[in-house]
Amino acid sequence: MATAYGLLPMPMGARSYTIEAPAKLNIRLKITGRRPDGYHELVSIMTPVSLLDVIEVRENRGEGVELTASGYPVPLDDGNIVVRAAQSFSATTGLPSGVSIKITKNIPVAAGMGGGSSDAAATLLILNEIYSKPLSMNDLRVLALRLGADVPFFLVCTPCLVTGIGEILEPVERWPEFWYVIVTPPIQVSTAWVYQNYRMKLTTGEYPFIKKALESASLVISQVLENDLEAVTSAIFPIIDRIKRLLVENGAEGALMSGSGPSVFGAFGSVELAESAKKHLLEQELGDVFMVKSWKRG
Ligand code: ATP
Repeated sequence: MATAYGLLPMPMGARSYTIEAPAKLNIRLKITGRRPDGYHELVSIMTPVSLLDVIEVRENRGEGVELTASGYPVPLDDGNIVVRAAQSFSATTGLPSGVSIKITKNIPVAAGMGGGSSDAAATLLILNEIYSKPLSMNDLRVLALRLGADVPFFLVCTPCLVTGIGEILEPVERWPEFWYVIVTPPIQVSTAWVYQNYRMKLTTGEYPFIKKALESASLVISQVLENDLEAVTSAIFPIIDRIKRLLVENGAEGALMSGSGPSVFGAFGSVELAESAKKHLLEQELGDVFMVKSWKRG
């Protein structure tokens, strides 16, 4: 029987639950300021997509978090944000910290799709569910933001207009249906490095512009696809422009780098076009290729 958040209790005696953790795409990412503490303020449209990590949590009688993982390699100590999420949940609630966590890592790492942040949010949600909701959604948001600027988005997990440093979330009511083909070249990009090398040109008037675009009955995706960080990453990795070109030549209504990269996605109006583009991009051997849709939790 599925519970809230789509958690699936596992069979057998020991209490064990699984939860899916989606990747995100930045449909638009504009930098609007820099705070004295170094964080960048942004206006972004983010959507969760159906490329999913799976987190399985099992209670154990020990102390601390025991982590195992399969798929793309991730740290197995407290370098893993999932461990830090479980520790912060335990420190805040006083609940025992003895849990075994298994990550099936299907989202490429350091790829601009927020996989770590999503895993952290999923871990907070599942622990809160297992222990009968000791924390309110607001408490979870506070913990999430301490773990990382993108983590609160993954608690909400629906297409959002995102502002502040990532913590102010306005769900987008009518997000148009697209198929997305994502290409992740085999390079890892440090988000911190990209922000450090971003030469600030402050975007002004962004919020009213994007609000109006999102309220319009006929949103044209190619008119909103823009990412201020793309120029930084693509200056070092020209493969990004090549993938964008190929996606558009193969029928995408627009193509963009997500987050700090290097993943690039194209938005397609039909499943047939997306399938044919996926096939073509796979033949080019530019990296891992995924075909996904927008995704919602529960
Ligand atoms: P963002 O767009 O939010 O910067 P990203 O997709 O570019 O995210 P992540 O995949 O979240 O980046 O990985 C960033 C760093 O976090 C990597 O160096 C990785 O080793 C580390 N990390 C820690 N825990 C995880 C996890 N559970 N999944 C992925 N990366 C993790």
